[in-house]
Amino acid sequence: MNSSNSRKPEIPFQDLRKTNGPLMDRLAEAAVRVLRSGRYINGPEVKAFEEELARESGTKYCVAVSTGLDALRLILRGYISMGRLKEGDEVIIPANTFIATFLAASDCGLKIVAAEADERTYCLDYSKLLLSPKTKALITVHLFGRPCWDERATAELKSKGLIIIEDNAQALGASFMGRKTGSLGDAAAISFYPAKNIGACGDAGAVVTDDHELAVIIRKLANYGAEKKYVHETRGYNCRMDELQAALLRVKLPTLAEVTRRRSENASHYDRYITNPEVKKPERESGSVTATWHQYVVRHPRRDALRKYLEENGVGTEIHYPVACHRQPCYDMDVSLPVAERLAGEILSLPIADIGEEEIKHISTLINQFRG
Ligand SMILES: *Cc1c(COP(=O)(O)O)cnc(C)c1O
Repeated sequence: MNSSNSRKPEIPFQDLRKTNGPLMDRLAEAAVRVLRSGRYINGPEVKAFEEELARESGTKYCVAVSTGLDALRLILRGYISMGRLKEGDEVIIPANTFIATFLAASDCGLKIVAAEADERTYCLDYSKLLLSPKTKALITVHLFGRPCWDERATAELKSKGLIIIEDNAQALGASFMGRKTGSLGDAAAISFYPAKNIGACGDAGAVVTDDHELAVIIRKLANYGAEKKYVHETRGYNCRMDELQAALLRVKLPTLAEVTRRRSENASHYDRYITNPEVKKPERESGSVTATWHQYVVRHPRRDALRKYLEENGVGTEIHYPVACHRQPCYDMDVSLPVAERLAGEILSLPIADIGEEEIKHISTLINQFRG
């Protein structure tokens, strides 16, 4: 039980060399294939990846784009082009999310209604939504890889005509009652930021949807507003995924099930080994909901002291996120969301990627000995 006489392994929060190491030969092969092809944009790798990702997501269409933020932004811009959203419309977004979810909405001129977090899941609390006649959309965030879906609440919102968008940046591969996240709402944004469960070697993202019209307009918007070269039907952007990232992601996507399995296993190890009564472990969902465990987030009343203690003992941690979005300087909204605000001061993400039972046992032992 005494950790001071054992060797202290340096466990960083995440080491991307470890993530990509086992695939290095195949990644290199894919990269060389693209480099030699002379085809770097709008080519066969992106096309094949889109088909593979749509299949994985259980959706009809996929548009590969530049980043997760752009995926969110293009969905909203797409709905604006279709006349389904307009400037000034209200969109509900959980305050406890990565800033990108907020940035996408404000960039499109939409009014963000910051929503409260659920005390149990840390995701959006569907029981506390504030609707007004101007509310036109909801962006649910499957935070930490946990499906944030309420069948009854979302059905009611849909019946009122709201668009439901999923921020699936952290939950690719998760499912809710046998349905994949990303296929639950009207459209979903995925991120392949390198540290995501399936990460590119650079920036990349994607939109998935069953809505043909939306997919067509997003593809156009992401490609300078043109379907045909030099025919610009709308004022678009350049938000394309490149061939190199697509080829690398085609190597990584087939590992998704294994990545998810190992992360779930690690979460179970933490559940078993952490016994410190002051540490609140993540609540478990029922059997029909599977998470991707993008993060394993614990809660502690003296979070900063716990983080410092772990760091001094060679264990890297992160905070997702230290400031709720509505309190960030770039928004500083005049609303009070006590749960989201309290969470920001108490949550701590433990290493979960590319480690195994021994490391988790070690980290848990340290946590159990923490008396700070
Ligand atoms: C990573 C992330 C994004 C943004 O993705 P990028 O590819 O980094 O732009 C958006 N939302 C959430 C919840 C994320 O975790």
